[in-house]
Amino acid sequence: MKLNEKASGILKNNAVKWHFDNSYARLPDYFFARLSPIPVQSPQVVILNINLAKSLGLDVEALLMPESAFLFAGNVLPDGAQPIAQAYAGHQFGHFTMLGDGRAILLGEHVTPAGDRFDIQLKGSGQTPFSRRGDGRAALAPMLREYIISEAMHALGIPSTRSLAVVTTGEQVMREVLLPGAILTRVATSHIRVGTFEYAASQRDTDAIKILADYTIQRHFPDLLDTENPYLLLLNRIIDSQAELIVKWLLVGFVHGVMNTDNMSISGETIDYGPCAFMDVYDPNTVFSSIDQYGRYRYSHQPQIAQWNLARLAETLLPLLDPLPERALTLAEEAIGAFPKIYQSYWMIGMRKKLGLLTEESIDTELITALLTWMQNHYADYTNTFRALSEEVLPNNAQFGDVEFKSWHTRWQERLTRQACPQSTPLELMKTNNPAIIPRNHRVEAALSAASEHGDYTLVHQLLAAIAKPYDDLTEFNDYRTPPASSERVYQTFCGT
Ligand code: AMP
Ligand code: MG
Repeated sequence: MKLNEKASGILKNNAVKWHFDNSYARLPDYFFARLSPIPVQSPQVVILNINLAKSLGLDVEALLMPESAFLFAGNVLPDGAQPIAQAYAGHQFGHFTMLGDGRAILLGEHVTPAGDRFDIQLKGSGQTPFSRRGDGRAALAPMLREYIISEAMHALGIPSTRSLAVVTTGEQVMREVLLPGAILTRVATSHIRVGTFEYAASQRDTDAIKILADYTIQRHFPDLLDTENPYLLLLNRIIDSQAELIVKWLLVGFVHGVMNTDNMSISGETIDYGPCAFMDVYDPNTVFSSIDQYGRYRYSHQPQIAQWNLARLAETLLPLLDPLPERALTLAEEAIGAFPKIYQSYWMIGMRKKLGLLTEESIDTELITALLTWMQNHYADYTNTFRALSEEVLPNNAQFGDVEFKSWHTRWQERLTRQACPQSTPLELMKTNNPAIIPRNHRVEAALSAASEHGDYTLVHQLLAAIAKPYDDLTEFNDYRTPPASSERVYQTFCGT
């Protein structure tokens, strides 16, 4: 308690330069519960994202004081915060459930000097009315995992929530064993989920869905205000941004792992990093999550799942789409039915870039598919194969000496020569679309173990440095390009809740 008071003193007069304006907390009260994070014993900052803090306009010097741990732990509330736990529902593995922030508190919305609005959320901050049987807490390794992967996604150019800090709590959490507890500070353009719409639609207040849709338009799609059917346009926008997002995942070999509707953000950012991972060897059936027994959320199934989730969203919007229920249904079906085409178009754009194709030819689809099939049949490393193709000279190894590959390579080279541009142009395009470095799972696991079991953050910091510039050829990070040896391969990841 005394320590908290001391921290309040040091952080007083808004030394950190927060600028909170909490629009979500002004919604009707069934959208959230008001409560503060539950203080923890002895918080300590173990990672601070200085670049992100700067871009948010926060005072880095103040954040670098050890007392900022009390802020990131929720022991001390920043000036202007109005802490809430958000209510939401969701389809988890296809089944509808009432959920809500069971272990997170939204401190409020920080508005940057440039006028951009970001949710500041503490994850692992104690029990809430939505905790059900959970302890409201988080273990250190999963919070570090979210920090690492979300920052990697951002560096790869993929929309994602960000991670500002991780603190250890000085308390232990009980999972299968006792583990060090931690809290992650998550930064997001909002935490409105498909599941928030499902929650609103399930309310007795028939206005709830309109209130949420209007709020979402105001916050994320203000250009839709004053259009003829803003709700249909809202649905179309969300469909489009999800199609684009899922394609970006596939292009870098990312498997989210738990694409429940409560883990799909309306803003188009990747959210809720649980048992997610990047695949090494190309295999469309890749599934990492220990709880995904039937492979519902496997790599290649992510587009279909996105469409399924979006259909759940569309259902909630039906009363707003048209006063005539039949007409509303037709509009929703048309919008959802367009997803595969939109998705396919983004996929072709992305894949063409990965292969340096600046023009469009009818053989492109077949050319791309043939490479992927070859990669699958030859257990080729997804990331390294595309990166090798982006080099002027292919590595001289058995894999690329394969006859089938050579014949594909000749066809691809012929295709490239039909583009009227210098030879370097496609390679430049490829280098900015085929990362050299992804957070390979064996590296992530090694870093998490060292931190969680031995309090040693060396590997975490090295990994964070390596993933910060994924498209650059930085020789000091060459080790991070190496796929796992068979003994190092990670087949399963755990969500750690
Ligand atoms: P997630 O798998 O992280 O997307 O969480 C799904 C739901 O379970 C959300 O409502 C979470 O708030 C809740 N939850 C996850 N872990 C815990 C926990 N340790 N205590 C309370 N609620 C939790
Ligand atoms: Mg979630």
